[in-house]
This record gives sequence, C-alpha cells and structure tokens, in this order.
Amino acid sequence: MTAKEFYTYLYRLLKDVTPLEVDCGGLCDGACCKGDGESGMYLFPGEEVMYNGNEPWMKIYDSEFIFKDKPVKIAICNGSCKRNKRPLSCRIFPLFVDKDNNLVMDVRAKGLCPLVTATIPFEQYNPQFIHNVKRVFKILNNNKITREYVDETRKLIDEYEELDNIFKWN
Ligand code: SF4
Ligand code: SF4
Repeated sequence: MTAKEFYTYLYRLLKDVTPLEVDCGGLCDGACCKGDGESGMYLFPGEEVMYNGNEPWMKIYDSEFIFKDKPVKIAICNGSCKRNKRPLSCRIFPLFVDKDNNLVMDVRAKGLCPLVTATIPFEQYNPQFIHNVKRVFKILNNNKITREYVDETRKLIDEYEELDNIFKWN
C-alpha cells in the first residue's frame, strides 16, 4: 500500500465525523481553525504526499520536531481549508492515545479546545467519532513507521504535560 492509499483510507474514516454530534465550533467560535499563520499541525510520516505544495490555504514547512533524524513536516493553514483535504491531525483533534493505546485527550489542546479544557467525558462525544478515531490509531499502530511516530509524539505530549504541571505549581 502506498502512503497515498494509506492516508486516503484514514482520511475517509474521519471524513464526516466530528467530536460532537452537533457542531462543536459553536462552543469556541472554531478556536482550532483560526489560522493564525503560526500554529500548525504536524503531518504523520509520508502524509505530505496528500498535498501538491500549491494549496492556497496551507503551507508545509520543516518543524523542529525530529523523527528518525529528519524534521517532521508541519502544515500551517489560513483557517479556511478544503475540508476533505484537512490533515489527519485535524481529523483526530483533540484526541490521542496513551502508551496502552487507550484514547485520551490531547493535553496540547488545553486552553484552546473547550472539550479538553472542561474534560468533557468521552460518553458525551459522538460515538462514531470515538469509534473511528480508535480505528485510525489501530491502523497507525499496525504500521511500524507510524507506530514509532505515534510513540514519539506521545513523548512530546508527555513533555508538554510536564511543563504544564510545572507552570501550575508556580
Ligand atoms: S477547538 Fe475543540 S470544540 Fe472548538 S471546534 Fe475545535 S475541536 Fe471543536
Ligand atoms: S487545516 Fe482546516 S481543519 Fe485543520 S486547522 Fe486549518 S482550517 Fe482547521
């Protein structure tokens, strides 16, 4: 399977499902899609094949996050993507998995996403979203490279959480 086929399949799993059954953007005025021109989404390994580099709504750069001795690509959008082209990180947001592959909230979304800030229980999420995000992580974990990438990203999230806790104490 090529990278394009792989990500096309994952994109399809999260094509129409969103975290809540209602539009959660109404809770936060679409906080995760403000397109400030600075914050971006890390692309999964090889995911850049999904883009031709001429998307008027998004630019792809090398980030400072290193995986397998190479910079991870980061996509920075202007807040108005073509929905069917949005990166995988946007589709799984605001969730990730812990080391036992249990779904958890991505703490990097704290302070931005009300679902994470208010620790909304998964029972209140759209069950289809939860189901499909779990499926996506299962597929990512069945592939050696993407599994390693998920592990590295988790370390990054753990570091973020540690720093977040330090700031809480000060
Ligand atoms: S920030 Fe959270 S609540 Fe707001 S649109 Fe994004 S996912 Fe939904
Ligand atoms: S690519 Fe689309 S879904 Fe992702 S942050 Fe930008 S506007 Fe939002």
